[in-house]
Amino acid sequence: MYYNNGPLRNAYALINPSNIGVNFLKYNTRYKRRSFSHDGDLSFRGKALFSTISSDGDNKRIECDVIVIGSGPAGRAIATLLSTQSSPNDEKLNVILADENANEKWVPNYGAWRKEWDAIISSYESEGVKGFDESVDTEWEVTDCYFGGSYDIPVEQRMRLEKPYLRVDKDKLRDVLGGSYSILEKNHISSAVGMNVFSPSGSLVVNENGCIIKLCDKNGDCSVVESKLIVDCTGHESKLVTRDHRTPFRDAGYQIAYGALVEVVEEEENSSIGPYDKKAMTLFDYRTDHIPTDEVSSAESTPTFMYAMPLGKNRIFFEETSLVGRPAISFQTCKDRFFQRLKHLGIEVKNVEEEEFCYIPMGGPLPERNQRVIAFGGANAIVHPSTGYNLCRTLMGAIDLSKVIKTEFATGVNFNPGKAAAQAYHAIWNPSNIRQRNFAVFGGEFLMKQNVKGLRGFFYGFFRLPVEIWAGFLAGWPGLPDNVHHETWFGRLWFGLIFIVKLPPNVALDLALYILAYSINDGIALPQSVTPFFGEPQSYQYDKGPKLSYIGDVAAKAEARKMIQESKIIKTLPVALKEIA
Ligand SMILES: Cc1cc2nc3c(=O)[nH]c(=O)nc-3n(C[C@H](O)[C@H](O)[C@H](O)COP(=O)(O)OP(=O)(O)OC[C@H]3O[C@@H](n4cnc5c(N)ncnc54)[C@H](O)[C@@H]3O)c2cc1C
Repeated sequence: MYYNNGPLRNAYALINPSNIGVNFLKYNTRYKRRSFSHDGDLSFRGKALFSTISSDGDNKRIECDVIVIGSGPAGRAIATLLSTQSSPNDEKLNVILADENANEKWVPNYGAWRKEWDAIISSYESEGVKGFDESVDTEWEVTDCYFGGSYDIPVEQRMRLEKPYLRVDKDKLRDVLGGSYSILEKNHISSAVGMNVFSPSGSLVVNENGCIIKLCDKNGDCSVVESKLIVDCTGHESKLVTRDHRTPFRDAGYQIAYGALVEVVEEEENSSIGPYDKKAMTLFDYRTDHIPTDEVSSAESTPTFMYAMPLGKNRIFFEETSLVGRPAISFQTCKDRFFQRLKHLGIEVKNVEEEEFCYIPMGGPLPERNQRVIAFGGANAIVHPSTGYNLCRTLMGAIDLSKVIKTEFATGVNFNPGKAAAQAYHAIWNPSNIRQRNFAVFGGEFLMKQNVKGLRGFFYGFFRLPVEIWAGFLAGWPGLPDNVHHETWFGRLWFGLIFIVKLPPNVALDLALYILAYSINDGIALPQSVTPFFGEPQSYQYDKGPKLSYIGDVAAKAEARKMIQESKIIKTLPVALKEIA
């Protein structure tokens, strides 16, 4: 089914065959299209207002400016921004959002810092997207942590952070990101098998005009969408983008959590549920005094913590979480520890309303350069590599991405899809952002090798830093509050220096030694992120023209040509490796 999601138009009426020839006017290959003006006159414009549909064999053929694949937060955010006019001169693109699950509710239980959400509200209002302020479910004035059990910190000791936190109302957020785009309830069926090459053959083809993609539903009803740009928002393990395996990288780590929204047996008027104050959100409870003796060693070497959101009366969302691990911890372990902890704390579950299985790949390689499919959100590895936070980063990143895409569309007849895709990648992963990410990837690697004592010591030191410094690290994305303290090499170096003195001596020593080992083993990424030396990471910016499938992997072929020239054995350059003029 294909229908319009916005209040302004009804695309189903527009694709009604009786309307074809009246309302639908295909754009020509030079990117000038005719479209309907508001007063009903036909006019030539630099942009389209409506998608078009025709028949392609058994498949319906639809045309649009941008197809966004995937309807999670990333997909809906970018589709909304591209299809919204922030000012009368702003581009408003004709966008299709494709996902067979587009009408399913979102499952994850999203949490965010109030200050970051306020920044999102005002940034989206400036872009003409309103309603974010209503997409908050519950809010807490303070945030609690428990790091007791090591370094002479008493088990009962609570660390209170004077920083408000909130639970996002995921249904309202989904509605706010309703935009003026059309929805196609079909999935892509392609996998990238090389740079801009997809299998099965013909299911996704990029060309000098844009791209053509086949999407199908589970009944085998397929559509072919022809668009100038394609944005892949299918999540962390996208099949549409290839990864940069040339730049040194570590494999992803995994955040795993078992969560449940429960009703507990507790006097409603009590101010807490077990030790958890109802007025506070508990970010980390890293205590292990609930673990049976025979499991202590395993619980200490593969630590998990409790995350708790009291939701009023006797309802509370709990999540037993492994911050980051490689390999991932088992969900069953998280679930077992979840109930062991509650039992130890005297919290009796009366009813489980919802369950959540959280699986977040963190870190790993970035997408390869010169791809035509623009990865975004989880697909573009935007997730914070050391915390798993993603939502606010993605929402903020969508604004930069939409601006760049609209700027490219504003070039009208000169629109170049290869350039637009490269600039879109550059909007997210410019060298400055890559340097900041590399620092956070190092942080994730360090956390991954810590036992529970190391983590308690690490976070006990971390949250004793000035709030703007630790909050900026957790935000970790341009435009989010306090990130300014981490945007430069000097900011990151300063953070490292003042942090290390807050740590217990053995954690500080471990960190110092790991910095040394990581810098030796993993190349320049870390030194480049905290010093002015070692240059910049390779840019995603457009350089030499469109990289189409027939050109192949330019870097690999150049490398082979160089090696063949140096070889004493091979005399002739294979045709496949020759440079295409
Ligand atoms: C349980 C859980 C809790 C989380 N909690 C938080 C949190 O509190 N704070 C935070 O910042 N982050 C959190 N995250 C991390 C992150 O915010 C989420 O992973 C976020 O949903 C990623 O957004 P996304 O839009 O990139 O991808 P997703 O939300 O994963 O959306 C991907 C979409 O692509 C669609 N899709 C997949 N394959 C196809 C296909 N072939 N064709 C068409 N569509 C397809 C799917 O149906 C889905 O709608 C959480 C993640 C999980 C899993």
